[in-house]
Amino acid sequence: MSLDNLYQQMILEHNKNPRNFKEVDPNTHYSHGHNPLCGDDYVVTIRLKEGIIEDIGFKGTGCAISKASGSLMTETLIGKKIEDVLNIKDNFLNLVTEEDAEKDNLGKLIVFEGVKKFPVRVKCAALVWRALEDALLNESDDHTITTE
Ligand code: ZN
Repeated sequence: MSLDNLYQQMILEHNKNPRNFKEVDPNTHYSHGHNPLCGDDYVVTIRLKEGIIEDIGFKGTGCAISKASGSLMTETLIGKKIEDVLNIKDNFLNLVTEEDAEKDNLGKLIVFEGVKKFPVRVKCAALVWRALEDALLNESDDHTITTE
């Protein structure tokens, strides 16, 4: 089995069986993300405690790439410090858009590297991460983002 196939298998498995597919309640941060191009639509909820992601979930509907991205994102970020979370988020967004992304702390998220060959799919993979960014960094009350 080639590496591409292996990565594809992992994405399909996480789509079929998404981890942390829930709304965290009570939560301290949330955002609603929508990708009109594909129809992906998720709410990301986070409980941050003393600078650490104590719990994180995502819930909604969307394609295999977007759902697997939410599953692997939440699985990767639980228990991590906010500084590390933001660093991983930046590296992931680079991974799906640039040739020379920093991969050291991405772990299994590396399976999304091939997505950059399919520009339409980049928004699917990035959606839950954009919502995460909005939930954690946007000070305003309107926690809704749309990929255009
Ligand atoms: Zn999608």
